[in-house]
Amino acid sequence: MSRLNRIWITIICVVAAALVACSGQEEDSPPHVLFILVDTLRVDHTGLGGYERDTTPGLDTLAEEGTVFLNHFANAPWTKPSVASILTGLLPPTHGCQWGDFNRAASGKVDLLAESFTTLPEALREQGWSTVCLMTNQTLTSRIGFDQGFDRFDVLPGTTTYDRVVAEATAALLDEATGPTFVWCHMMSPHEYETPPGRERNFESEHLTPIRALQPNGAMIRDEYGMEYREQAIDMYDETVLYVDELVTKLIKTVRERHPNTLIVFTSDHGEEFGEHGGYLHSRTLYNELLRVPLVIWGPGVASGKRVEEMTHSVDLFPTVINLLDLPELPSQGEPLFGGDPGSQEIYAEKIAGTEARRALITTEGKLMETKPPVPDGVRPDMAGKGRWLHFADPLAFENPEDQDRILKPEFLRRRARLQEIWKSSRELHELRTDGEATQGTITDEELEVLRKLGYVE
Ligand SMILES: [Zn+2]
Repeated sequence: MSRLNRIWITIICVVAAALVACSGQEEDSPPHVLFILVDTLRVDHTGLGGYERDTTPGLDTLAEEGTVFLNHFANAPWTKPSVASILTGLLPPTHGCQWGDFNRAASGKVDLLAESFTTLPEALREQGWSTVCLMTNQTLTSRIGFDQGFDRFDVLPGTTTYDRVVAEATAALLDEATGPTFVWCHMMSPHEYETPPGRERNFESEHLTPIRALQPNGAMIRDEYGMEYREQAIDMYDETVLYVDELVTKLIKTVRERHPNTLIVFTSDHGEEFGEHGGYLHSRTLYNELLRVPLVIWGPGVASGKRVEEMTHSVDLFPTVINLLDLPELPSQGEPLFGGDPGSQEIYAEKIAGTEARRALITTEGKLMETKPPVPDGVRPDMAGKGRWLHFADPLAFENPEDQDRILKPEFLRRRARLQEIWKSSRELHELRTDGEATQGTITDEELEVLRKLGYVE
């Protein structure tokens, strides 16, 4: 062998050894975790949900390399309780973080996310992860407990500008990370029906009325705006889904190129109504336009190109991440989605907002839904009192009240008893875990103003 050949072989060996060492180091160290939550994204307005408009081309392509959960449900129809369920792996009646009296002259009381519950960032920080939250939904504040477990918790105004900033900051954050890092990246464009000014429109109709003009003083949009508004609202909403898809696609591509050893979760906290049941926006009902949201997971331990048909819900995410990272198990009311039969196959959803309580049990046998009679203003609604029941044989359908299906009495009683059992055991768990701890605070004027701007206060 010539001296030159020997030198080349030596160089190749050194480079190969370095590459092995680098990739080995990347694979041996715990992965980063990137949790992307696009607020207010209903699955049937995405390619994953079979939407006829091409709103999520990037996500659809990326999803081919991850596992898609086709029949995923949020546990609540609005941000606060739903995100609390994602963060804790607990059902809304267990974490109890739902209601707020947005009238300071009455009580002004708001539910808190109690300290005694363990959040996903708390669990990961305990095991050595740095934890960062880039939050654009201003209702999820540290004052009501949503900063639990985050080393850094930045709340930014929910606008399209900030969605771009958040996407870019997330990628930069992971580049600067000195160890395994968990980033919660929360985007708001679909919630706000906003795309950046001057951006080319793909779906928007010509006569657009800004959503803010349609909800003077923050009043919730009701059916008085009729079908004309419905088309405009859908056009504006779809435009924001396409916009957020571009941001998310770019972010995920960047992160996966630079940090292949990253676990990525993409989901939403609830959907949106477009007049299907007499209202707009979200938080009023438990129909599927508000509960069915996308879920895609990529990364170490996650099958590529897999499509899961079984029903799953938000509380499954906490045990799923813990399980994929091989961390000690923690109590939750969900099931890990990998390494066994995915999903609990028993979905519980609840709404306690305004003056009304609703709950639903969704299984492969159907969807049973209860609406309680309204309570007076300023009173926290609960599950007491006789409710109105609806049953739908197809748990996945985007149903209408008039489409409700007949259910035989023994079967109804059996499912009602099960729903009651889940609710009761969850409330007992809540009492047990929050024993003696404050679970409510008082709303401030600044928080009221934010809620009004976001359409939660009439
Ligand atoms: Zn939300």
